[in-house]
Parts: sequence; structure tokens; C-alpha cells
Amino acid sequence: MRIASLFLSLGLLHAADVAVGTAVARSGQKATGFIQVPGGVDAALDIPVIVVNGSQPGPTLALLAGAHGTEYASIIALMKLAEAADPATVSGTLIVVPLLNVASFLQKVPHLNPVDGKNMNRLYPGKPDGTQTERALWAITKQVLEKCDYLIDFHGGDLDENMRKYSYWPDTGNDRLDQTSRGMVLAFGFDHIIIQHNHATDPRTPGVTTVTRQAQNLGKPAIAVEAGHAGTTHAEDVDALMSGCWQVMRHLKMLPGVATRVEHPLWIGRYAVVTSDRDGVFFPLAVPEAYVKQGTTIGYMTDFFGNKVWDVTAPLSGVVIYIGAVPSMKKGDNIGYIGEIAGNDGQ
Ligand SMILES: [Zn+2]
Repeated sequence: MRIASLFLSLGLLHAADVAVGTAVARSGQKATGFIQVPGGVDAALDIPVIVVNGSQPGPTLALLAGAHGTEYASIIALMKLAEAADPATVSGTLIVVPLLNVASFLQKVPHLNPVDGKNMNRLYPGKPDGTQTERALWAITKQVLEKCDYLIDFHGGDLDENMRKYSYWPDTGNDRLDQTSRGMVLAFGFDHIIIQHNHATDPRTPGVTTVTRQAQNLGKPAIAVEAGHAGTTHAEDVDALMSGCWQVMRHLKMLPGVATRVEHPLWIGRYAVVTSDRDGVFFPLAVPEAYVKQGTTIGYMTDFFGNKVWDVTAPLSGVVIYIGAVPSMKKGDNIGYIGEIAGNDGQ
């Protein structure tokens, strides 16, 4: 049910108004505002939001970026997309949250919210009385996830990550969700697709609830996409993210025109995360998109005096999805992802 029609039945809003936070958009209009997260044990937070309320009825698609506030290409892509979206041609509603982790962006702190040191894509559904990250995620759950029909979560190579473009398709075991999200990920158009094993009982990610997983828990099809690297905002990456979004909107009949879909994607069924076992200085020897054999040296580490202390090797044969982009490397940090190719016709 469209939220606006629910409110209409309660007599609270104009016929087709859509409200998210302080942004209230009438039918055929766009509105900006903030999802206001009240202060608690730490500071309050205003999360920017844009509502594009189409002139024709249709589903509600939520677009979220900036859980990691220095993944700039994805943040800029959603800002530009919200600006470019024309409510007159849209059927349904877009809820665009281009920057969730405002403190990370402003302070140039990658991965975490510097206010409380927590990852803003791990702790859904959040808590109304937790620290800032938990309160913010609670607000996103209530004001975005519960109001949308579909979700795309945007990421991009963080300040210290050099990567190729790829999407995540979650395999949840729920046929309705999985077929719909599969259509979305193929329409988005990135040709490398990582299969996430998101069955409810899967033990591989205990205690971790990302925004896509939380959406799935609420019965909403969701995918995640990544483009951009090492703090850059190259047009190629920003445009690919925007174009994928327009394609998904066509696929969902929210825009006129026929959606194309990626013809022969590489499905990555398993990937290995290589982590550092020590503090030191990292030098990459492989680049994203390279195919490497198990045992291939993908980089090396030195101590602070320049002595080589470790050759980092690929734990399996596959494609380099991402690799460290800067010399800083502390024990436990991710050095890279190597994806094993599952095939190009499906999982
Ligand atoms: Zn991210």
C-alpha cells in the first residue's frame, strides 16, 4: 500500500502526498528535507533525503548511499540522480538518501561513523535508544525500509579500496524475493554479480544485518551495487551507477521505455576475503579485474624499514574484485577480495 493512501484514509495528508522525514512531496513534485535522528547518548543527526513523487501511481523504490561516507562515487551518483529525476515522467515514488553517514563524509573517515566508531551497514534494524549509528539505522528502517517496495543500496570503492564495478544478488531462499531481485540486478547492468548467501539460517554472517538483509527481512526485494575507487568520482563510475538506476526503474515500470539487461554476467558464487595478519606497508601487484591463479602473489607487505615481510597470495583462483589502494595496512584490515567464477548463465 502506498503510504500516502494510508495517510489519506486517516485524513492527515493531501491526496497523494508522500512524506519522509521533513520532505513532503505532492503528486508530480519533488521535495528535499531531512530524516531527523534525535540526540541521545551522543549527537543528533540530520540525514538528507529527497522524495520524487511521480505524477502516475506505481511502486516506491528506495535508493540509499553513503553508509560509508567516503565512497564518493555512489554518493555523488545519487545526488545527481535525485536532481535529474523528473516527477512528470515517473510512475510511483523514489526515496533517495544520498548520504547516510554524514560525519564520515565531513571528517573523511572511511568505513565507520566517527561519532561512535560503528559500521553503518551492519547493525540493522538499529535501536531507538542506542548510539548515533543505531538510532540512525532505526530511523532508516522506520522511515525508508518500511515505506518502500524495493531497495538498491549503493557503495563504491572506499578511500583505501581499488575495485571494479559489481553488484550483489542475495540468494535468500524465498522465491518471490529472489526472482524479483534477480530481475533488478540484471537490469542494473553490471556484468560481475556476487551471489550473497542470505538464507535465514546461514551461519556465515552471524549477527550481521546489512540494509539489504533488513529489507529482505521485511519482504522487500533488495540489491547492492558498487562502483568507484580510492576516493575518486570519475564520470564513468558515477554514470554507470545512475544509468543502472534508470534501467531498474524501467524494469519496474516506473519510467517509460524498455529496460535492457546484462546478457552474460559472470556470477561469483564464492569469494575469499584476504585480511592482513600484521601491521605494515602494503604494495599491490594485481589490479581489479585481473584473473589470478590460486597462489599468485597479489601484493606484498614490508615493515616500516622497507624490508619485505610477507608475500600476499590469492587463496583461490578467480577475479580480483578489489585490492588495497593505499600503503596503510593494519592487522585485520581487508587486503582484497578474490571472486570465484560460478558461470555465466546463472548460479
Ligand atoms: Zn560501502
